[in-house]
Amino acid sequence: MLIKFLGGVREVGRSAIYLAGREIRFLLDAGVMLSGRKIKYPIHIPPKEVDEIVITHAHLDHVGAAPIFFIGGGRESFLTSLTAPLAKLILLDFIRVSKGLVPFEVLEVDRFLEKSKKLDYQQEFSRNGFKLTFLSAGHTPGGGQAMLEFEGRRILYTGDINTVKTTLLKGADVDYPQIDIAIVESTYANKNHPLREEVEEKFVNKLKEVVERNGIALVPAFGLGRSQEVITILAKHNFPYDVYYDGMARTVTEILFKFQEWLSEPDLLEKAAAQVTWINVQRQREQALKRPGVIVTPAGMLQGGPVNFYLKEVGKSDKNLIALVSYQVEGTPGRLLLEKKLITLDGKLVKVKAEIKHFELSSHSDKTQLEELLKKINAEKTFIVHGDSDNCENLAKYARNNLGLDAIAPKIGDSYTI
Ligand SMILES: [Zn+2]
Repeated sequence: MLIKFLGGVREVGRSAIYLAGREIRFLLDAGVMLSGRKIKYPIHIPPKEVDEIVITHAHLDHVGAAPIFFIGGGRESFLTSLTAPLAKLILLDFIRVSKGLVPFEVLEVDRFLEKSKKLDYQQEFSRNGFKLTFLSAGHTPGGGQAMLEFEGRRILYTGDINTVKTTLLKGADVDYPQIDIAIVESTYANKNHPLREEVEEKFVNKLKEVVERNGIALVPAFGLGRSQEVITILAKHNFPYDVYYDGMARTVTEILFKFQEWLSEPDLLEKAAAQVTWINVQRQREQALKRPGVIVTPAGMLQGGPVNFYLKEVGKSDKNLIALVSYQVEGTPGRLLLEKKLITLDGKLVKVKAEIKHFELSSHSDKTQLEELLKKINAEKTFIVHGDSDNCENLAKYARNNLGLDAIAPKIGDSYTI
């Protein structure tokens, strides 16, 4: 069979891998890459050359291009039962915020998701000589690693993976059978994360300190996953002050309540959701800015969302804090704030007076965890993807030199017969 890397190799974004056997052709993920106002897509593949689409999780860099394959017709797609409603939310939001820039509409999103096969973790789907199973990936609610068996080979695609438990999700399922071909991510192949409990504690203590000095702590967080994790961390530590919760996070939380067994500590999410003040309208946002407290709101890298309204006020005082809780991609407003303390207000760059802190609550495995993962998978052939060029190459080199694996970091457009 043939494997071709259409995107998401030696880069993070627009993940798409084409896998073509003699009789059946798969597309593993169909993502986009957002850089400023530009949307980048994977290398084009004619939709008629794709039979089945497998989506690992509901992040735009893995699902944002999927509806394109449903323009003017359909095909079969597979995702987990929880990824499906979250992907719908994310894609509809993508259409709304990109204002006509995406080449599909609500119709294609519906066509894609309504006819999709929705699987639970460990639920085997087999037909026409292929078998597909999702294993939990620990990266985002509903996210799965795809294990595909056909033409006598067993292929594992980790998607994005986190092997450690968080307050929201269980660590990835790494109880693998024998694997022939592995496709493994490498986002954090260059560094180890500090211990999660320590980061959580520092985060909570900092937020307490800010409220106690009569300040507001603004926590920009992605509405899917990270926001829920932030409020569960606060609930776990019995955070005693007001917490406001804004944006898409609310709808996501309501979906998660229906999928309790997919979470690591569902009771904690219930407790957290009962303690926060939900923000729905502009008047409530203005109220939230009038007293000390914590505001959790999208977007995590300040690319749109209610966060920009809050930033304007919160940025004005050195009593306040802006706590960034995810990786800030180069070129995003979040990165600019982190490195230079600058935000854009009414088209002008403005210096922020508030304190800026970064807390690494990563949802990806770190260097050591990835190295252990490769050893555990121990595939006959390993492809390293989803990381910048150095990370992909270095992890492949580690796998070759230290684990004796046949590992490679493909370039975009490369194809291999496997
Ligand atoms: Zn992801």
